[in-house]
Amino acid sequence: MAMAAARTLTGLERRLSRCRACLDAGHPLESLPVRAPLANQRAYLFGQAPGIQEGIERRPWRGRAGATLRRWLDLDEATFYGTFFCASVTRCDPGRAPSGRGDRTPSLEEQRLCSRWRDEELRLLQPALIVTVGGLATRTLLGIPTIGEAVGLRLELPDGAIAIPLPHPSGASSWINVPANRVRIAEAVALIHAELGQLHPAA
Ligand code: SF4
Repeated sequence: MAMAAARTLTGLERRLSRCRACLDAGHPLESLPVRAPLANQRAYLFGQAPGIQEGIERRPWRGRAGATLRRWLDLDEATFYGTFFCASVTRCDPGRAPSGRGDRTPSLEEQRLCSRWRDEELRLLQPALIVTVGGLATRTLLGIPTIGEAVGLRLELPDGAIAIPLPHPSGASSWINVPANRVRIAEAVALIHAELGQLHPAA
């Protein structure tokens, strides 16, 4: 069913908090939607999906991966959440993968159902900077097939926003532990800070 366009981010996030579209379509979920704390952010951080801790707290990036991401970015919690509007491909904890290794990747149908929230957020927020985190988020938003091709790029999108991809900081990714890739992560973080410096020149 088509969703009427929201007029404000606050209204949109209120609607998001009640979404059960995937459950209604028969997909298993382990949490209610996780929402971004609103703070007039001008940067949009786009990950894959919440995990267990995020689902419990209903806030993004609360587990170990979030701590690693903040360490990469050298941002404390308050600055991180005040800088980035944190969103993801899907917004509810999808549960563990059937193999037992890591989180379940949301199905294509779940990704499609949840894309309505991303599209509306981008329309309302019009972020100057978009940081994608992980392969799925980078493929979804930027169309770059692999994280190996993406990290280190600075892309200007048709609307003028700058996009910078990062790998996923989860311990499930071996890519981030390759020494040469750690250098590339540091280069991507430097690009992000350069853009943040344009957004917040007095910071
Ligand atoms: S994953 Fe997205 S579309 Fe699916 S129920 Fe949660 S908020 Fe709704």
